[in-house]
Amino acid sequence: MDDFEQLKQEVNQCTQCVLSKTRTNVVFGEGSRHAEIMCIGEGPGYYEDQQGRPFVGKSGQLLDKILDVCGFNRKEHVFIGNIVKCRPPNNRDPLPEERETCIPFLYKQIELIDPKIIILLGATALKGLIDPNAKITKVRGEWMEWNGRLIMPTFHPSALLRNEKLKRPAWEDFKKVVSKYRELVNENHYSAHC
Ligand code: SF4
Repeated sequence: MDDFEQLKQEVNQCTQCVLSKTRTNVVFGEGSRHAEIMCIGEGPGYYEDQQGRPFVGKSGQLLDKILDVCGFNRKEHVFIGNIVKCRPPNNRDPLPEERETCIPFLYKQIELIDPKIIILLGATALKGLIDPNAKITKVRGEWMEWNGRLIMPTFHPSALLRNEKLKRPAWEDFKKVVSKYRELVNENHYSAHC
């Protein structure tokens, strides 16, 4: 078994925080393990918990649509994960101690997948990975650097579903990702809309 499979097994059996008591399934993450882009969200919701897969509800469908317009998909270009791997009850925000307990798994995923670009989806991802005091509305759309990797913070797809007005700025953020992908990974990357 290689390191990635070992990590997956470890995460799937984890009982290090209280979220293990109420989860149905652990959501390790999904996508290419050689992805050049990682999308990181907050944590599993109801459908993700039921299916053991990330971003499968309405937000996930919207994320897939956005990725598709960018010419990306989960199989080839992107790995999708979360700050916490188990669903917080009633979709509450993960508590700081839950985030802290789970985050080493995400660090390990990032190390093993080794993406060139990380897209942080929403405030919890931003606070969990970069800075607990950072505000998504202030920093979204601007490239940041974290441990030698490029980070693009943007809105969580669920925020776009709640507020149509955020769709335009979020799209601008994803256009920057496509452009950076062409610069760093594949200059001939095809996207129908940007
Ligand atoms: S949320 Fe993370 S730390 Fe907590 S039980 Fe699940 S995998 Fe383990």
